[in-house]
Amino acid sequence: MSLSLDDRVTALPGVGPKLAGRLDEAFGIRTVRDLLEHYPRRYHDAGEVLDLGDVEEGAPATLLGEVLDWSTRRVPPRGKRSRALDLAEGRVRQASGAVFTVTFFNQRWRASTLPPGTVAAFSGTVKRFRGELQLASPDVQVLGKVGSGTDAASAAERLDHQRLLAVYRATDGLPSFKLNELVEVALEALPPLEDWLPEELRSGHRLRPLDEAVRAIHAPADQPDRRAARRRLAFDELFSLQLGLQWRRRQLEADTVGLDNAPEPAGWASRFLAALPFPPTGAQTRAMGDLGRDLAAPRPMHRLLQGDVGSGKTVVAVWTMLCAVDRGRQAALMVPTEVLAEQHLRTLTELLAPLGVNVLDGLRVAALTSSTSTNERRRILSELLTGELDLIVGTHALLEEGVRFADLGVVVIDEQHRFGVSQRVQLKEKSAPFDGATPTAPDVLVMTATPIPRSLALTLYGDLDVTVLDELPPGREPITTQLITPEQAHRRARLEAFIRTEVAAGRRAYVVCPFVEESEQLPGRGAVQEHRRLATEVFPDLEVVLVHGRLSSAGKEAAMSAFRNGDAQVLVSTTVIEVGVDVPEATIMVIEDAERFGISQLHQLRGRVGRGGGRSFCVLFAGWSSELGDDALERLEAVAQTTDGFQLAETDLRIRGAGQLFGRAQSGLPDLILARVQEDVDLVAATRELAARILDDDPGLAEPRHAALRAEVLRR
Ligand code: ADP
Ligand code: MG
Repeated sequence: MSLSLDDRVTALPGVGPKLAGRLDEAFGIRTVRDLLEHYPRRYHDAGEVLDLGDVEEGAPATLLGEVLDWSTRRVPPRGKRSRALDLAEGRVRQASGAVFTVTFFNQRWRASTLPPGTVAAFSGTVKRFRGELQLASPDVQVLGKVGSGTDAASAAERLDHQRLLAVYRATDGLPSFKLNELVEVALEALPPLEDWLPEELRSGHRLRPLDEAVRAIHAPADQPDRRAARRRLAFDELFSLQLGLQWRRRQLEADTVGLDNAPEPAGWASRFLAALPFPPTGAQTRAMGDLGRDLAAPRPMHRLLQGDVGSGKTVVAVWTMLCAVDRGRQAALMVPTEVLAEQHLRTLTELLAPLGVNVLDGLRVAALTSSTSTNERRRILSELLTGELDLIVGTHALLEEGVRFADLGVVVIDEQHRFGVSQRVQLKEKSAPFDGATPTAPDVLVMTATPIPRSLALTLYGDLDVTVLDELPPGREPITTQLITPEQAHRRARLEAFIRTEVAAGRRAYVVCPFVEESEQLPGRGAVQEHRRLATEVFPDLEVVLVHGRLSSAGKEAAMSAFRNGDAQVLVSTTVIEVGVDVPEATIMVIEDAERFGISQLHQLRGRVGRGGGRSFCVLFAGWSSELGDDALERLEAVAQTTDGFQLAETDLRIRGAGQLFGRAQSGLPDLILARVQEDVDLVAATRELAARILDDDPGLAEPRHAALRAEVLRR
């Protein structure tokens, strides 16, 4: 019996239940496939591994050997250097028996991470010191431990035919070299992998066979080898994603009939536009043009409306919903949080007031969340079923069993990235007819304020058409963003004084903390503690309110409405206010422990100010409760430098990669592990097109020649 990809890792020689448990816990690696998809994080370029005799002084070199021992000593201050240094010196023996020294300054921990018996490659510049050859502060790559099958000679041999050594994401209990060993064992035991891509498709796109690619990604001979392997595997990720998304969309379309939801000339939608207190922006008008065409077309609409924070998506959403009402149908708006549902209900009611809301002959609008009272809920459900309710705003509660519409025409989903694809589908099925007729599919508009580059949008939303609101309404106030680190502690007091003057001028401030409550596991500012501090010590004369996810809805709503109407001037909260909350008088956004937030979160939070109340400010406190890493600093500086969401999204994508940006949990899509949407734009376009072509031929992927494709897409 030969090993197969779907076998558990325990099928590998040398892997017992204990190691298997650790692999699962640390990386979710259960099967051989999981192990092989734990791709290298980077590669250690060992260059040419040298013997001591061949080493040239002053030249870069990689020396390899077994650590013998460590000594540490203090080096007294000397010359301009005013501080003493800790020097750790390790002696390393090469396979030939020759010994060299590696030195590290102020890195005592090296001695414990490289205990005697460790076999490692050290890369750096060679110096001669008191007659001995030395590598000062070299790059280190651990290759194994003496006694567990590795010694200096076998490690040297391995690096002889493989300059690039895979470095894996690792933990203390599972160092990278252990993963190197396991992968090697697995690749040796596996028979050649079958390729799911037909030969002619591979040659058409200059792709390597799967088996070669999988082996080369873990043990590339050189850089071109590594690049070709990555390209093939990235192609697989993108192609199966595109094929899956487009396949599903076609299935949905095949099974359903679209509705004609074109706006009526003198109907609700056009009266709504006429009654707006401002003219729509050019971008809003263009978006409504796109949507109008989709709404009228016989196939169901699936459109993504992308627009930066404050670009005015709500108006477009309301207009779209009213198009359904024009045809005597209903519309639903689904949002990720209760706070947002309440906010949208209020906005809708205000925007629609000129047309009459919840009055005789007016539109009927309601909100449904998990904290809607039982009586209210019962009333809403029955009015949805009879068609009395025209518009409903709600959270996940809309998806529950028992929510049924008389005739659902339009579904709008706000903050798309918070919902999975399956939830999108679930809501659409709420209008199944009772008479057994062909089900009709409502038109779906999904909206996101997480600006994503077009290439990424096309990848992630392979099944959606995309419209971008690329213009902000006029009158936006500029937002100044500042970073305050602990070295600038005096600026905290200055900020507090500034908040006081702003409040005196009728303005308001948000203070956002990363956690509800501070704890030992989570050092940092807790909203509860910060609220207490601000309310009692800093602003005893002001009204400071608190909102976080553990409060009751009534408590949340009371605090929000106090802040909205000005009874409270400072709102301390967690990120529950991240999306959509709209209080024009708020001009200051303070974010504590800003390094704990991602770029898009910070951008969303900052978007809560600058909404018309005057010049606005965003203050990011960073490094107060945890070290500021390079990535964090880069993120924060990017946010401080620009308010352009698309530019920030590009930066975010560069720092984090698409896989992490839109993880499986959030997007409902498989992770892109290797594919990098920015660099792989050509692959994104090619796979999207290829998938469409294949499905044009065979919409159900039912033909025998597509069996392998079908199986792979289903598996993923
Ligand atoms: P977002 O795209 O973040 O959801 P909103 O829809 O909340 O943005 O709009 C932000 C603010 O801009 C709201 O106060 C809204 O009333 C206002 N607004 C929307 N469209 C326009 C417009 N065309 N002209 C002026 N203000 C507008
Ligand atoms: Mg919004």
